[in-house]
Amino acid sequence: MKTRKTFAILGAGLILACCVMTYLMMDLTFFPPGQDAKLSVHNNEWLHFESRLAKLEKDFNKHHEVMSALQEAAKVKQNFVPIVRSSDNREQLGPIEAHSEKLPKCNFSINRIPEVDIQMLDLYRILDFDNPDGGVWKQGWNIKYNEEQWHRNRKLNVFVVPHSHNDPGWLNTYEKYYTSQTRNILNNMVTKLAEDSRRKFIWAEVSFFKLWWDEQSKATHDLVRRLIHDGQLEIVSGGWVMPDESVSHWTAQLTQLTEGHQWLKYNLDYVPNSGWAIDPFGLSPTMPYLLKEAGLNNLLIQRVHYSVKKRLAKEKNLEFRWRQLWDNDGSTELFTHMMPFYSYDIPHTCGPDPKVCCQFDFYRLPNFGLTCPWKVNPRAITKANIAERAILLLDQYRKKSQLFKTNVLLVPLGDDFRYTHVTEWDAQYNNYQKLFDYLNQNQQLNVQIQFGTLSDYFDALRDKHNLADFPTLSGDFFTYSDRDDHYWSGYYTSRPFHKRLDRVLLGSLRASEILTTIAWAKGNDQLAEGNIALRLSNARMWHSLFQHHDGVTGTARDNVVIDYAQKMIQALNNSAHALQQSVMHLLKLSQESTIDLEAHYFSLDETRSHHTSPGEKHVLILGDENPVRKVILYNPCPRQRRKVQTLIVSTPFVKVTDHTGQPVRSQISPVWVGPAALSAARYELSFLVVVPGFGLTTYIIQALHKPVFPSDVYAANVTVFNTDIPLSTVPGFPHIQIQPLTQEFSIFQRAELSASFGKSGFLKALRVENITFPVHLEFVKYGTRGSGKDKSGAYLFLPNKPDPDVIFTDNKHIVHLVTGPILSKVFIELPYIRHTCILYNSPGSDGFGLHIQNEVDITETQNYELAMRLNTDIMSGDQFFTDLNGLGMIRRQRFPKLPTQANYYPMAANAYIEDKHKRLTVITAQPLGVASMASGQIEIMQDRRLLQDDNRGLGQGVTDNLVTNHLFMLMLEKKRLNCPASSSSSSTAHPAA
Ligand SMILES: [Zn+2]
Repeated sequence: MKTRKTFAILGAGLILACCVMTYLMMDLTFFPPGQDAKLSVHNNEWLHFESRLAKLEKDFNKHHEVMSALQEAAKVKQNFVPIVRSSDNREQLGPIEAHSEKLPKCNFSINRIPEVDIQMLDLYRILDFDNPDGGVWKQGWNIKYNEEQWHRNRKLNVFVVPHSHNDPGWLNTYEKYYTSQTRNILNNMVTKLAEDSRRKFIWAEVSFFKLWWDEQSKATHDLVRRLIHDGQLEIVSGGWVMPDESVSHWTAQLTQLTEGHQWLKYNLDYVPNSGWAIDPFGLSPTMPYLLKEAGLNNLLIQRVHYSVKKRLAKEKNLEFRWRQLWDNDGSTELFTHMMPFYSYDIPHTCGPDPKVCCQFDFYRLPNFGLTCPWKVNPRAITKANIAERAILLLDQYRKKSQLFKTNVLLVPLGDDFRYTHVTEWDAQYNNYQKLFDYLNQNQQLNVQIQFGTLSDYFDALRDKHNLADFPTLSGDFFTYSDRDDHYWSGYYTSRPFHKRLDRVLLGSLRASEILTTIAWAKGNDQLAEGNIALRLSNARMWHSLFQHHDGVTGTARDNVVIDYAQKMIQALNNSAHALQQSVMHLLKLSQESTIDLEAHYFSLDETRSHHTSPGEKHVLILGDENPVRKVILYNPCPRQRRKVQTLIVSTPFVKVTDHTGQPVRSQISPVWVGPAALSAARYELSFLVVVPGFGLTTYIIQALHKPVFPSDVYAANVTVFNTDIPLSTVPGFPHIQIQPLTQEFSIFQRAELSASFGKSGFLKALRVENITFPVHLEFVKYGTRGSGKDKSGAYLFLPNKPDPDVIFTDNKHIVHLVTGPILSKVFIELPYIRHTCILYNSPGSDGFGLHIQNEVDITETQNYELAMRLNTDIMSGDQFFTDLNGLGMIRRQRFPKLPTQANYYPMAANAYIEDKHKRLTVITAQPLGVASMASGQIEIMQDRRLLQDDNRGLGQGVTDNLVTNHLFMLMLEKKRLNCPASSSSSSTAHPAA
C-alpha cells in the first residue's frame, strides 16, 4: 500500500514539474568544433551523433513506456483528485493520460465532497472579522478557570520547550548570521545541555546545523548524537530551512526537506518526528502533506489570522487533524497544534498576558540590556520571591490551558537568535529550573512541569488522548493578518525578479538532475561522483536556502537579496554545467572518448551572467564563416512535447531542417529595440519542434547563400499602428506597413483560438471554437496611504483606497503587429511595461492559450503597485480559485467584510474563474499575488515599489526593483455539453474545485 501511494504521488509530481517547465525548456546550441574543446568534433562525425541520438530517442521512448506501465500499475488511489487543474488538454496531462480512457473527459467534473469538522472557507463565511479589545490578551478575551479541574490524579502537565529561531538570511546574510550568532548558539548548546540531563532544546534549520557540524570534532559529533539519543536535543521539521508556504513551489519545498532529511539521516541516522513552523507568514496544507509523507507525526504552526485563532481557541479547536482538501478517508491527516497568541516570543507564549509572560524572559534581566515594553521587567528567582513568582506564572499556564482540550500544555521558550551567550543559557535554564522545582514540590498546586522537546509534548498528549477526539480541518491559513487590517499580502509579489529567478532555477535544476541521472544510468559513472555531483548538490542547497521565509518572499534586506541572487546564479550555472556535461556523456562517440569534466561543450539558449540579468538569449551567429549551426533540444518531461521554439539568429536568411534532413517550416520575425525601431543584428527564428520524453533531438540551422526566402521560410508580416514615422527597414523586412491611425484587429493561428485587440493594442476578446468571449486586459495601480497612517512595505499591502486606478487608458501608444504561419504577436511599449501577446500555431500545449509577456520596470515610480487585470463576462460571482504551491487548487471567496488587501491570495502556479459555461485560467511562470475584485475579474500584481518600512522588523522599504520578465498563459475553456452536470450544491461546496 505504501509503495502504491508513493507511485501515485510520483506520478502527480511529474505532471506538475512539467507544467513548471512549460516555459523553461532547456535548449542547447551545439557549437561547431571549438578551439578549446577537448573532444574534437568534425562535421562528418555528425552522422555518428545523429545515429547516437536516434538510439537515445528509442531508449527514451522505451523508458517512457515502462514509466507509463508503472504509473498504470500504481493507479491513483480512490478519491485522489488529480492535482493538475482538470483539463482536456491531453498534452498537459502526461502520466494521467493512461487514466483518461476510463475517466470521463469532462473538464469541470467534481468528485465527492470530503466532510470535515472545520472547513476553513466555511469558517471564513461565518467569521465577523471584528477586532474588539480583549483586554490583556488584546485579540482574545479575559480567560477564567476553575481551579478544581486539577487534582492529584489530573495534574496540569507543562512542557517548556526552549528554542532559538535562526533565519538563514534576513537582516544579515546566512553566513553573517552564522559567524556572528548561530555558531555560538550551537557551541553553547552542546556544553549547556551536557551539564544537566533535565535540559532540553529543539533545532529547526539544518542549513545552519550543517555549517556548524562541519567545524566540529569527532568528540562533539558523538556528544550531539548522545544528546539526540537521550532526547535532550530534538531536530524539528528537519528541513534545510523553515520554508515560505505561500509562493514557494511544492517541488522546491520537497527539495529543501529532502536536503535536510538526507543530511540528518547520513550524519545522525535521525528521522524527524514533529514539524515546527513558527514564522512563515501564513500556512499551506502542502506542508503537512509533505511532512506526513516524509514520516512526521505532528506539526506546530503560529502565524494565523488573529480572528481565526480566537475562534478556534474559543471552541478549544487549536489542535486538529489537518487534512488535504481532497481527502475523504483521513489518510493525509497530520496532527497539528496552532499557537494561540500574537507571536512566538516569550511574552506571547506563557499565557494570555504579555506583561506577565515578559517577566519570565530571563534574557531581559538588567545585565543583558533588553527590557520589557510592558514596563515590568523580570526579576531573578530567589528564595524570597519564588512563591509569588511561581504562582504568577502558573496562573498564566492555567489560563493558556483553558484554550485546549487536554491537561498537557506546550510553552515554547525562545525568540530570534536566542541562547547566543553562556550567561543567557544560565539565566533561562537556572531560573526556570528553580520555578519547576518549586511548582513540582508543592503538591497542592497540582502541576507537573519540566523542560521538554516538541515531541515530548506531543508524546505526552498522545499517551493520554485518542487523536479521534480532535476535530478534522481542511483548507489553508491565508491571508495572514497579525493585527488590525494589516494583511501580509504584499510579500506575495515583493521582489518579483527573484521570484522569477526562483522558478528559472527550479526548472533548470530538475532538468539537470533528470539528464544527469539518465547519463549516469547509461554508465557514465563520473557524473554520480566528484565535481559534477558536487555542483548539483550545491545548486540544490542554494535553491533550498532561498525557500526560507525571508528568501522567496522578498522580505530580506537589499544586501541579503543580492546575496541570495548571487547564490542562485551560481546554482544556475552549476546546474547548466551538469546539464551540458550530461548531454556530452550521452552523445559521446564511444566509451573510450575522454571528456573533460570542466569543459563547456554546449552553450545554453538562455543564460544569466549577473545577479540582475533578466535572462540573456544566445544569438546564433550565421554567415559565410558559420554557415551551419546545430541545435540540440532537451525535453525534461516524461512525455513527448511539441512546441514552437524561438531562437535568436544573426541573419533573417536561414532555413531549418530536422536531423533526417527534412526541411522544417519556419518563420522569421523582427526584434524590436524601441517603440518604432527594429534590430538589424538579431531576428527571431520560430519553428515547431518535437522532442521525445526525457529525450534529445537535433535541428540544423543553415545560412542561405542568397538573401531570398525559400518556400518553407516565411518572413512575418509587420504592421505598426498609431504612428506616421517611417521605420527604417532592416534586411528581410523591406515592407513594413505603417498605419497612422489606430484600429481594432485580431490574430489567430489555429482554428480553435483567436484573439482580438482594441485600438489601444490591449486584448479585448478571445474566440474559442467559434464563440467570442470578451476578455478585456488593462493595467491598474495602487498607491499608499497618507502621512501618519500605516503604509505598505515588503510584507504588508495597505492600499490607499479599495479600488485601484486604471492606467494607460489613452490610445496613443504605438501598437506593433507581427503575423505569420508559426506565430502571431502584438507588442506595445507602455510606461513601466513592455507588453506582448503571442499565439502559437502548435498542436502542443503552447497552442492552447494566449501567451502574455510583461517586461516590468517600475524603478521610476514611488509608492506604486502595478497590477494586470482581466475583465470578462464570466459569471463567477464572488468565487475564484488559486493553486496551493502548484500541488492543488483551492476555492477562494471575495468577502466585502474584508479589505482589498485581505482578498489578495498567493498564486504560485495558476488561478481561474468559472461559471456554468466557461473557465478562464491564468497560468503563471512566477509566483505573484492574485485577486478577483469583481465578478468575472482576475487581477495579478506585477511589481511593487515602496519607500518605507512596514514595521515588521525589516527596517527598510522595497526600492531595489529590477527589470523583470513575467510570463503568463491565458486559457479559456468551454464546458463540455456531454458532461454530467455537477450538482449546483456540490460545485459551490467543494473547497478544492
Ligand atoms: Zn524567521
